[in-house]
Amino acid sequence: MIYQEVKNFSNGAFVSASSSTIHKVISPIDGQLLSTFNESTIDDLNTIIKQAKIAQKAWQKVTLKERAQVFYRYKQLLEKNSDELTQIIHHENGKIPSEAKAEIDKAIELTEFACSLPQFVNGENMEVSKGVYCSSTRVPLGIVASIVPFNFPTMVPHWTIVNALVLGNAFVLKPSEAVPISSQFTARLLKEAGLPDGLFNIINGTQPTVEAICDHPDITAITFVGSTKVAKIVYQRASHNLKQVLALGGAKNHIIVLPDANPEMAASNIIASMSGCAGQRCMAAATLIAVGNCEAILEKLTAEAQKIQCGSTLGAVISKGAKEKIEGYITEAEAQGASILLDGRNTVVPGKENGFYVGPTLIDHVTADMKVAQEEIFGPVLSIIRVQTLEEALTIENNNPYGNACSVFTQNGGLANYVAENASAGMCGINVGVPVPREPFGFGGWNESRFGSGDITGKSAITFFTKEKKTTTKWNIEAGINWMS
Ligand code: NAD
Repeated sequence: MIYQEVKNFSNGAFVSASSSTIHKVISPIDGQLLSTFNESTIDDLNTIIKQAKIAQKAWQKVTLKERAQVFYRYKQLLEKNSDELTQIIHHENGKIPSEAKAEIDKAIELTEFACSLPQFVNGENMEVSKGVYCSSTRVPLGIVASIVPFNFPTMVPHWTIVNALVLGNAFVLKPSEAVPISSQFTARLLKEAGLPDGLFNIINGTQPTVEAICDHPDITAITFVGSTKVAKIVYQRASHNLKQVLALGGAKNHIIVLPDANPEMAASNIIASMSGCAGQRCMAAATLIAVGNCEAILEKLTAEAQKIQCGSTLGAVISKGAKEKIEGYITEAEAQGASILLDGRNTVVPGKENGFYVGPTLIDHVTADMKVAQEEIFGPVLSIIRVQTLEEALTIENNNPYGNACSVFTQNGGLANYVAENASAGMCGINVGVPVPREPFGFGGWNESRFGSGDITGKSAITFFTKEKKTTTKWNIEAGINWMS
């Protein structure tokens, strides 16, 4: 085992979970055993929550500005320790080190935003009638929890950890069972930054642990990020228990290419989007819709994809099961008559024969009714659909049940705006392959990519992680003055 046993983090200390079910953490790079951990029990969660309740009551009394100070220190620690964390993410997720470093950079940016929350969280105060004042303030919710996926072991947890804590809550993280090691690092750094014990907690596990979180009476709000299937389960179960829930699901992102797009720029951006993090990004390009004659761009696209080196410029997919599933989609599309322009099946990286690699794959002449065009593949696979008009392209995009991202590549500003206005996606791009909004803009899709309202980052965090209190005050002693005067 390369890393120590993964433990829960409870009241500022690492403790083993108590179920006898043991999970293995396998590196996608070479199939090596990295670590193990025990599934948690309801008693483990109860212990965490008991201490979190006490810690949160005290934390709520610390001013917002002072709470933010902890995160200025935390940001510096993230920067200082980013090399070690890069290696952990690389080992447990399989993405290449530069991609691991990029997600730490994003976690740093998210922490900077959290530090700026005192500038945004302004209450209001108004004389609503003569001598009568109404004021509003934002109050923390209490204990909140986040359930996260495997594809960004550090960035996605930071979507919520830092904002929720600065806003005065206690926090429980349920990491993905595939990549639980980097969150151990987060716990260490938050403690070192001076975050009081009991405020940041980790509970490791799988479905039973998620169910215990959804059912726990003292957890007020839950965020979930993962597949649409599980997002629906978590949203329904936690809402049924009267919790506030925001659940982000899967995606199938479309890139609409018009013949006037700059071929070099379009090709390099689209290939970076479909292959980055081995296609395991909820913002990855999955389907390219070529409108009219885009031959020059498609040729450049293939040339760009051929430059990719598996194992050095393209990382591994998360598991053997994921590799088999992705390859199955390619095989099915081929059987249905699509042409495989570039085939990433059966990729073996010398020296890493036990790793889970799929090479970049381009599938041409896909039709909108094929499975590869409809379902989330979550691998470095781009399906190409050819259409004659922009309206046809938008109909295909609009008919997809998901709604995370849609981008258009063109030099024509009017058509670009038309696509951005008419795409059924929460995050649109114009000549941008991965249109992730940067802080302070919030991250959130539409349709089956999100259940609940608001974004998971940015200013939406204020409404999600706090509740508003209104106070009406009258110091005027005139007998006839009341709140309607
Ligand atoms: P997943 O849905 O399998 O798992 C996500 C979390 O849910 C994990 O912590 C897991 O332990 C838990 N879980 C799994 N099955 C469960 C069940 N039956 N009941 C309760 N909990 C369960 O997702 P994943 O494979 O880890 O991540 C990939 C998915 O996440 C993709 O679909 C991707 O698009 C999506 N994703 C979406 C966004 C977004 O912002 N919309 C961001 C990142 C990833």
